[in-house]
Amino acid sequence: MGSENNSVFGNSTVGTVSGSEGELLYTLAKGVPVGQVIVALSSSEDEAAAWLTRGANAATGNNVYSVNIRDADVCKTTSRRWKEKVGLLWYNASCEYEDVRKDLLSWQRHLSAEAMLVLHGYQQLGVARVIREYTGSYGNFAFVDSVGTIAVLAIDRCVHFWVIDCNQFGICKYCDRKRDFKRMSSRSSQT
Ligand SMILES: [Zn+2]
Repeated sequence: MGSENNSVFGNSTVGTVSGSEGELLYTLAKGVPVGQVIVALSSSEDEAAAWLTRGANAATGNNVYSVNIRDADVCKTTSRRWKEKVGLLWYNASCEYEDVRKDLLSWQRHLSAEAMLVLHGYQQLGVARVIREYTGSYGNFAFVDSVGTIAVLAIDRCVHFWVIDCNQFGICKYCDRKRDFKRMSSRSSQT
């Protein structure tokens, strides 16, 4: 895409992404497998897309899409029509629990098997709660890394081996994730 000498880059000293956070995004974008795209969901201009583009250009030339989701309807439509496998999803659109949960839910099915989910503001209550759910006993993600205000999650690749006790309470012998199978079967309408 010819944006190695990106002029967006470094022309602003005020932004939501610090130098070390940008370096992390750059490194992660470089590691996205060939043919998978990078999607940056944000509610306003941030420097993340520039770092991600630079990283992608340095390695694979994978496409980077910046989606402004201030308009929730636009976001929903965009995610519904999305066709490409997403190898990295950057999220900096909201800190409200319901927003974060809903936005991620609509994009989750586009993630590749080795996708990284990168969230801004992970110390914020709403974001932290979503991360707890995603990485907790009923989640499908594992916590990988954090730098500054950014947290990196990856799809949990553990093929769980549940050791289940007489109370139907299971512990995976590989990853120590815990799961209450009694509770799961009693709420079978949910996934
Ligand atoms: Zn496991």
